[in-house]
Amino acid sequence: MHAYHSAKEIGRKAKQMEVMPFNDISYERFLNQEKLMGSRCRKCGALFVPPRTICIKCFGIEMEWIEMKGKGKLAAFTCIAIGPPFMAKEGYDRKRPYVSGVVELEEGVKVVARIEGLDGSKPETIEIGTPVQVEFLHRREGENLTTFLAFRPS
Ligand SMILES: [Zn+2]
Repeated sequence: MHAYHSAKEIGRKAKQMEVMPFNDISYERFLNQEKLMGSRCRKCGALFVPPRTICIKCFGIEMEWIEMKGKGKLAAFTCIAIGPPFMAKEGYDRKRPYVSGVVELEEGVKVVARIEGLDGSKPETIEIGTPVQVEFLHRREGENLTTFLAFRPS
């Protein structure tokens, strides 16, 4: 009987260790798997994307992983003509600006991401409130797989 209990105890400890830490590394790992994940405070229900370890609303430290549905609407945007070198490599420049935006997810959280499928050279055609759907942009450099969070009008 006693042995049974300790085995159960060990099993529970192992399970707790399997939980990925609530940090950027885990977040990026999930993006590689095409999952947009956030952390939710078990105490007050506040949601954070990217995840936080400590709740900024109630200072709770009990978090759980929650997968976002990946649907939302464009809340704000900016067209960027001079971006980082990897964007220049993709052919974005002054003549072809790309769009960076803030997306309000259905879950109520706002995330910053690249917005695909919109013409950055014609910002007047871009509308706030446009429904968007998540898209994962993978970039492989040597052994490293990096995934960028993007959204596209749905
Ligand atoms: Zn909280």
